Amino acid sequence: MLLTSSLASISHPDGWRTSRGLNPQTAGAAGQSRMRGSGDYRRRCQSDILPPDTSHRITTMVSVLKKAGRAALDMLFPPRCVGCGSFEAFLCRRCGEGLPPATPPRCAVCWRPYKGSGLCPKCRRQRPAFTGLRSPYVFRDTVRELVHALKYDHQAALATPAASLLSRYLEEENIGADILIPVPLYPRRERARGYNQSALLARGLGRLVGLPVEDRALIRERNTPSQAERASAEERRLNVEGAFRHRGEGFSGQRVLLIDDVATTGATLDACARVLREGGAASVWALTFARED
Ligand SMILES: [Zn+2]
Ligand SMILES: [Zn+2]
Repeated sequence: MLLTSSLASISHPDGWRTSRGLNPQTAGAAGQSRMRGSGDYRRRCQSDILPPDTSHRITTMVSVLKKAGRAALDMLFPPRCVGCGSFEAFLCRRCGEGLPPATPPRCAVCWRPYKGSGLCPKCRRQRPAFTGLRSPYVFRDTVRELVHALKYDHQAALATPAASLLSRYLEEENIGADILIPVPLYPRRERARGYNQSALLARGLGRLVGLPVEDRALIRERNTPSQAERASAEERRLNVEGAFRHRGEGFSGQRVLLIDDVATTGATLDACARVLREGGAASVWALTFARED
């Protein structure tokens, strides 16, 4: 049933359009809870001040205006596939099905290509803090285009089809999890971008698989230079060492699934997993949309 619902949302272009840009469904968690909170507040005010039929009419009018606004937006900026450029959806069905899969053989822990059985030599030398990392796709071709558009081109709506694909993969991989935690951005960077792409993925995935998302459980305390600019694995490890802190104990004893867009050396996920384990997480798996081979 989960698989069917995931596929339905992948192939339903209207579903993708509803998540265009930074609307409340795809904006930050704080934004989402604020929206939910303000909605409750508005409803309370309406029920206190206005007769019920007036309140109903206002709700209907807002809904009609929202739909009209979306239709106008679609006419001006029709959804365009990030892979082939067709005006069909943000990721058309054909491009979605043709993304390069991260197929085995791979290391059971870090998910790098590895022909042997079990753990690759690097993981045997120094085991990461996460139990295992999994990614459905290799970071190239349309996957690279999608991640870049999501991250650097303000195309937040791409998180919706990406989350649908992640939910299908999670179902196939059968990774046990109680809670989803996205890798945080440094607050200033998140404000500049307007959202955290990993949080968008986590929330989209959480809705589809019915898992709670705790997107303020981890804090990025240092504004580390982009990992993409670090050349070696050692540089990447030092770059994120001590950069994260956990807040609260909401995940204590729980099986955490860390969510991020791309894994390269796994240093960021390792640093986050370490902090979560110190904070009492029972286990930490990592799931990223793409894996750089
Ligand atoms: Zn396409
Ligand atoms: Zn490995």
